[in-house]
Amino acid sequence: MPAAAPISTPLPAPGTDEAAPAPLIATALRHRCPRCGEGRVYSGYLKVVERCAVCGLALASNDSADGPAVFLLFVIGFVAIPLAFWLNAVFDLPGWAFLTISCGLIMVMTLALLPPAKAFVLGLQYRHRPEDFEGEGGAG
Ligand SMILES: [Zn+2]
Repeated sequence: MPAAAPISTPLPAPGTDEAAPAPLIATALRHRCPRCGEGRVYSGYLKVVERCAVCGLALASNDSADGPAVFLLFVIGFVAIPLAFWLNAVFDLPGWAFLTISCGLIMVMTLALLPPAKAFVLGLQYRHRPEDFEGEGGAG
């Protein structure tokens, strides 16, 4: 069985001094720019800034659409469903209490994880399609 190919990141063009992209997970957790790792990605809860304030990367021109929500659907579902079964089996709660706790927990996890998930998808887009970030002065 052949070894799995390593995940490639775009390499800078020969003769340029472009630095490697910032670490993907660390920048996503801190809501930072995928190129420099310093500038903020959001101006509000999920509103992507037009450009990185530090390196000028055109961030708002990329729409991650439903990608982050789909990631969260799998992650939160994987955690919440077994937790709900455990909660129901161990505490024998009435239906209304079970629904209130389960829905509240799912809502809190979703609201907490959506900004880093969106920043993570933005970072993936930058790594795999950096040409999409080329706005006026975006990739330069
Ligand atoms: Zn930046």
